[in-house]
Amino acid sequence: MLIHTVNHKLFGLIDVSKSFIIEDSEVILVDTGINSSSANNIINVLARREYSLLVVTLCILTHSHRDHVGGLASLKKLGNFQVAAHEAEADDIEKSTGIEVDLKLRDGDILPCGIKVIYLPGHTLGSIALLAGNTLIAGDALRGSKKGLKPSPSLYTKDKDAAYDSIHHLTMYDFDKLFVSHGENIESNGKEALKKLIESLN
Ligand SMILES: [Zn+2]
Repeated sequence: MLIHTVNHKLFGLIDVSKSFIIEDSEVILVDTGINSSSANNIINVLARREYSLLVVTLCILTHSHRDHVGGLASLKKLGNFQVAAHEAEADDIEKSTGIEVDLKLRDGDILPCGIKVIYLPGHTLGSIALLAGNTLIAGDALRGSKKGLKPSPSLYTKDKDAAYDSIHHLTMYDFDKLFVSHGENIESNGKEALKKLIESLN
């Protein structure tokens, strides 16, 4: 399994969010960036792998925030994939994008390529992370910084207590790489970084 990170920038400069392309027995997209130029970024990264968007079978959305769903409508026009999101997030995604969520996910669901859905309410009420091989794609449950992992800022967090419980919940899973939508990905010992964050929160 290969996981490619796509960095989305505003005005070509300011980091806004990331998408991830999981390349295994199928090609699966996680999150779509903020707008149609994010959609183009994704198409360009696929093209570098000599793929067209048409190879993508599934687009999983970690949550409904604009910087994660903003490229969906553009991609949907050109692609031929199903859209998946947590059942508690599907309405918000459909309202903001006008695109139907085909697969309404729950905690523990197993998707193609063995990707496991981890329900992490807090940042939004239907946020999810994904466990893909030895990689945790944390969505916005965590963010990266120069000093290590951090919780998502409370300004953008719907329910702070639930968000902290969700961070603790992630210790149940085994992973090495830990990919986040904002800030630096952690390329190894991601679980240790998570434990450090939890110690600092206690
Ligand atoms: Zn968010």
